[in-house]
Amino acid sequence: MPSLEPLRFRPLLRRYVWGGRRLATQLDRDLPPGDDYAESWEICDRGVDQSVVAEGDLAGATLHELLRDQPAALVGRHAGLERFPLLFKLLDAQRVLSVQVHPDDRRAAQLTPPDLGKTEAWVVLHAEPGSVIYAGLKRGFDRRAVERELHRGTVELCLHKFAPRVGDCVFIPAGAVHALGAGVMIAEIQQSSDVTYRLFDWNRLGSDGQPRALHLEQGLEAIDFALGPIDPVQPQSTEQPGVERLVTCEQFVLERWCVADRATLPNDDRCRIVLLVEGAIQFGTASKQRPWVRGETGLVPACCGGVELRSPLPTELLVIYLP
Ligand SMILES: [Zn+2]
Repeated sequence: MPSLEPLRFRPLLRRYVWGGRRLATQLDRDLPPGDDYAESWEICDRGVDQSVVAEGDLAGATLHELLRDQPAALVGRHAGLERFPLLFKLLDAQRVLSVQVHPDDRRAAQLTPPDLGKTEAWVVLHAEPGSVIYAGLKRGFDRRAVERELHRGTVELCLHKFAPRVGDCVFIPAGAVHALGAGVMIAEIQQSSDVTYRLFDWNRLGSDGQPRALHLEQGLEAIDFALGPIDPVQPQSTEQPGVERLVTCEQFVLERWCVADRATLPNDDRCRIVLLVEGAIQFGTASKQRPWVRGETGLVPACCGGVELRSPLPTELLVIYLP
């Protein structure tokens, strides 16, 4: 069996009415014709939706097969997982997304077994002037007030919003009401779950001319009314120069790495998801590989711990791992 090197996968593109072409115009991705590219699933192990290795000796293998066949090499201390528990995506919102909420694991177990809940975090890659992100409820809006505004079609009154800036990180725990606004492109890390309750769709009609289904009962049940407004996180510095921690939660850790010349990934028996936001890198172990360039995502297997990243250009990475 070929030994594992840093892995690049084929992105799974999702076209929805609210998508656009920023994956190409902002991140230099090759996109087929069409102006509705909404999501690119970068790292995914969910049933038939599979990240497939794009190159090298393992080309064609799915993430699920790698996890099954080489668990210790791929995920190290997390060997034994039945599927990769995180889903990493890029999203390009040309139109505001529906107002939604995801349950936590406990509620999901009651409402939608065996699906898990969904906690997610966003990093803003692009934001048009005047764009907004809705995250959390304004203070003072309890269940009755939210229910009332939902029935009136005016739930926006209850939502906290802010103007996003490139680099902002927004942590959306399960139970937080949220909507990505028009003109914003993000990288999103989330629990690999598909349980979304749509609370409000801005009084729009779907592509079939009908309003899309709402899930008010379950949605209201899933909201954590104690959470309050959500603003971008304050990055925490770490012992490692150039590395700041954006999110630490039960499900994942999210860091931003600014690499001037070279840096070393920790050798701690974990795999890491890496997105190149800016610049380029070459991995020390994989000299045969072409450099990784901006807009590319990869998975650095646990067996490549301690690998050196060499960057000819000032480089910014998002690095994500399991706690
Ligand atoms: Zn969400």
